[in-house]
Amino acid sequence: MIIVLGLLLIKCPKCGSEFKGEKPVKIWGKAGARTGLFDCPSCGARFKAPIEEKVEIKEEVSIKNMVSKLKEVRGEFIQTLKNLREKIKTLETERANLLLEIEELKKMAESKVNALESEISMLREEVKSLRELLGCTDTEKE
Ligand SMILES: [Zn+2]
Repeated sequence: MIIVLGLLLIKCPKCGSEFKGEKPVKIWGKAGARTGLFDCPSCGARFKAPIEEKVEIKEEVSIKNMVSKLKEVRGEFIQTLKNLREKIKTLETERANLLLEIEELKKMAESKVNALESEISMLREEVKSLRELLGCTDTEKE
């Protein structure tokens, strides 16, 4: 509960002007029966007046609402962060998998190139030996 001091209007006994007594110079008494010492903002007279203490439920509720709203927002934020972290994790895994796949494809391509190269050199050798067999080594042009 929030207890606020005399928000009710206080009337100056000397000049009769009314003002809000939020800031008494001095306070006496127990809760519910307090007296305050006030300075009149109009005439400067100092006088005693009872202080009204009221429970501002409205304010309490709004603060509670704010707190729960903040908690809610925080919860949503944490959830969003969690989701983002999971997404990042998934994407990182996918990236790693793709990199592995690319690496494998590269290796496959390299081995294919190697195979083709050795096949070509074998074929060259074959052509060479065939030419030699046919006796036309002179016409071979490199
Ligand atoms: Zn006054």
